[in-house]
Amino acid sequence: MIAEEKEKEPALFSGAPSPVRAVLDRPWPSPVVIPAEHSPSGKARTLVATADAIGDPISPEELAALEDKEGDDASTRFCKAIGRANAVMRNYIHEHGSLFMDDKFKYIVDNSAQAGEIRCKNVTVEEMEAKLIKRKVTKEQAHLSELALASFNKKRKVKFELCEPLISRTFWEYRGLFVHINFVAKHNGKKTLFFAEIEDRGQGGKEMLEVRCCIPLESLCQGGYYYDRTVPSHGHRKSLDFTRCYACTEFVKHPADGSTYSGGHDGRRKIYLV
Ligand SMILES: [Zn+2]
Repeated sequence: MIAEEKEKEPALFSGAPSPVRAVLDRPWPSPVVIPAEHSPSGKARTLVATADAIGDPISPEELAALEDKEGDDASTRFCKAIGRANAVMRNYIHEHGSLFMDDKFKYIVDNSAQAGEIRCKNVTVEEMEAKLIKRKVTKEQAHLSELALASFNKKRKVKFELCEPLISRTFWEYRGLFVHINFVAKHNGKKTLFFAEIEDRGQGGKEMLEVRCCIPLESLCQGGYYYDRTVPSHGHRKSLDFTRCYACTEFVKHPADGSTYSGGHDGRRKIYLV
């Protein structure tokens, strides 16, 4: 899908850095329509691609080169975002062998790995570090983690020290800008995984950061539902569901009690587009 757009508009990515181009330039076959009589479901479907037709998988080094860096201009960030979406699709196809669309052109995906990542469970610091520590931490993530931890230390009269920020998600919701962040902090030699919600209540470009919550994730926690809104939910009131976060991806871990944070509860797909 993305590569087709690329073929139509080759100039669009001409300024992309070479590691990004290396991903965008991988081969991509034309989709093949499989008529209803040859499809196991009895409905027509489309073969998007098979693993042997799309070149090598995208390596961890190539994925790292697609992460945004401070100093990237808008066009580079745009190319990297397309590259990341492209990489996710290619590596999915390598992992599963092929990718199909149904008769309504919706991707038929096996999301059991994603569902496993989201599931409410005990996630250890070590697991999170193993998954996320290679990401480049931004100054903003470090600042927000320090801010959240300072508020936690003050309230609880403890002295946790920040070890490392791990992952964060920034999103607009109604009037405010929210950040959900996971970081690791240490107290008496013991590392603990934290979740914090920070709201920027500033107006007209003026920053006014408020730590809405900062919670150690010592027992059950769950990932965000941004990519998986098919799971039946509880406690729905119109589009709001206070049991989980729909703004974050599965990798950002939230407290099992969704009412402890205030952003991300709107289940409508269009609310969180970035
Ligand atoms: Zn969230």
